[in-house]
Amino acid sequence: MTRHADAIEALSHLDQRLDPPGNVLEAARVKDDQAWYREWEADPEAFWERAADELHWFERWQQAMQIDGSSHRWFVGGRTNLSYNCLERNIERGLGDKVALHAECEDQPPRDYSYSEILEQVSRTANVLRGLGVGEGDRVVIYMPLSPEGLFTMQACVRLGAVHSVVYAGMGEGALRHRVEDSGARVLVCADLTYRRGAVVPLKPIVDAALAGLEQVEHVIVWRRDEATTLAPGELDFERELAAAEPACAAVAVDAEHPAFMLYTSGTTGSPKGVVHVHGGYAVGVHLLMTHYFDVGESDTWWSTSDIGWIVGHSYICYGPMMAGATQVIREGAPDYPDAGITWQLVDKYSVTALFTAPTAVRMFMRAGEKALADSDRSTLRLLFCAGEPFNPEAWLWAAKNLAPAGHVVDNYWQTEIASPMIGTFACMQGRPGWAGRAMPGIKLKVVDEAGGRMDDGEGGTLVMEQPVPWMMQTIWQDDERYQSCFSERLGGYVTGDIAVRDNEGYWAVLGRSDDVLNVAGHRIGTADVESSLISHPAVSESAAIGLPDELKGERIKVFVVAANGYEQGADLSDELRKHVSRELGPIARPSELDFVDTLPKTRSGKIMRRLLRARELGLDEGDTSTLED
Ligand code: AMP
Repeated sequence: MTRHADAIEALSHLDQRLDPPGNVLEAARVKDDQAWYREWEADPEAFWERAADELHWFERWQQAMQIDGSSHRWFVGGRTNLSYNCLERNIERGLGDKVALHAECEDQPPRDYSYSEILEQVSRTANVLRGLGVGEGDRVVIYMPLSPEGLFTMQACVRLGAVHSVVYAGMGEGALRHRVEDSGARVLVCADLTYRRGAVVPLKPIVDAALAGLEQVEHVIVWRRDEATTLAPGELDFERELAAAEPACAAVAVDAEHPAFMLYTSGTTGSPKGVVHVHGGYAVGVHLLMTHYFDVGESDTWWSTSDIGWIVGHSYICYGPMMAGATQVIREGAPDYPDAGITWQLVDKYSVTALFTAPTAVRMFMRAGEKALADSDRSTLRLLFCAGEPFNPEAWLWAAKNLAPAGHVVDNYWQTEIASPMIGTFACMQGRPGWAGRAMPGIKLKVVDEAGGRMDDGEGGTLVMEQPVPWMMQTIWQDDERYQSCFSERLGGYVTGDIAVRDNEGYWAVLGRSDDVLNVAGHRIGTADVESSLISHPAVSESAAIGLPDELKGERIKVFVVAANGYEQGADLSDELRKHVSRELGPIARPSELDFVDTLPKTRSGKIMRRLLRARELGLDEGDTSTLED
């Protein structure tokens, strides 16, 4: 815990406070976050009913909430549809001709879509899927870049009551194959390629390798962006199928607790887990926080720089902005290509009012310097949100001064399992670099020590959520036992896996993981995933992965490898092993450093002591080594 003790000590010396500018405060939907929190506390059921009343229900619920330990059900008996709430609901309110989406791409002309046009495309896509036998509860794997077509496919699935599983189109063949197998999907929708940093990145060969020999997948639909891409027998052409499909498809009224999607994330052990979110509670939570925390309404232009492969891209690209009736910008490609000014020129072009990005991106812009901002004024930006990893004060202050000079820069904290913010700085709150903000209504948090004892304000420990919220995962796909294991009786609730501290103003700072999960450029990677990928290579007999601090990415991966007999340890093998991880898991998981070692430090029960490897690397105190075997 030494590294966190230092971080807490450092926090106590941070005293910068950034007041929200007058216009931001004036426009803020929530003028007093604590009063709003108390509204929830006073009568949770009435609070959630009011939030749910903003959305469309084919049938109203009988009971707003049923919580029993880790099991939680929301809007019980209600029937709704997440896609209806994004599309028809807005069209019925007169927003049909409003531009919902400005789609930019590094290498393609921009395209705009109104709410009505999106409804038509989503309906066509849904009809194509239905024609292949996809119905309620069926899983569809989506391996597509951030694009209108990707969003249409996601919405098409939930429209039918099918369950999408988006796999980030930067993941490798091993990761894709595991997700396809685990979901039991019979249909996969992919693109043949994507564009990144001026290069064409082929995706279809990764799909082909991932599906080789897998009989389970009966239909592959390919969005062909390059006419030269050939289809194998039985594969379908996305655009051709859409053109031939009926343009209308009614949304299926599903039970509020019916799964909408699953999204895999890394844990400390085993393989990545498919986190399941449902139509009712998820929609209510995402809509409530889109409008009340992110402060986005019909007059806003929103831009999230995430990707549909991550939870932010589900909640705050595919669903949240459309539920709020906003206009949004998406862009396929790198935020600093062709140069670091592009993001900000597009903010001006579309008069973006609220932007959501990650600390890693801010650090990248900071490195590019103020000159990249010379041809934009960013004067429309009211709010700039960051999430995904600890937001270091230096980057926060730089962003406040340079990126959103007329706006408010704020942090928020959440995770794949809890699909919307748990903690955040509201538009009406003082920004305090280093501190993520205060808890959202519904979120009751505590910091505990290893025995579950509650820590005082100012003391660091494990962050525990005491009771579920509507936007919390319902279960883990086909592994409810693993879902249950995310809760601890000893610690008294859902264990976030993070270390946090609260101060006497109710502000929380989240300092990093308490478990063996790494956070590289805001993306969660399990040490277990990297290690099992390495072990799948014949040259590796044992391996350990750790995270080391990285100025740009927050953390970078270092691995220790015990080579198998007969393999020559050297630069060639090191290269080959790092490439192997990249091929299997995707380039974000590629280790930056690899050391060959004779043995790994282990406890007597055989657990690798990653903590010790990390302490040695960083020259830190090695802590308690009494359980070390050797
Ligand atoms: P993911 O599930 O991939 O979205 O990753 C969630 C994890 O990212 C959390 O459990 C934290 O470790 C980290 N995280 C997200 N947002 C923040 C934040 N604002 N401050 C600190 N850590 C964060």
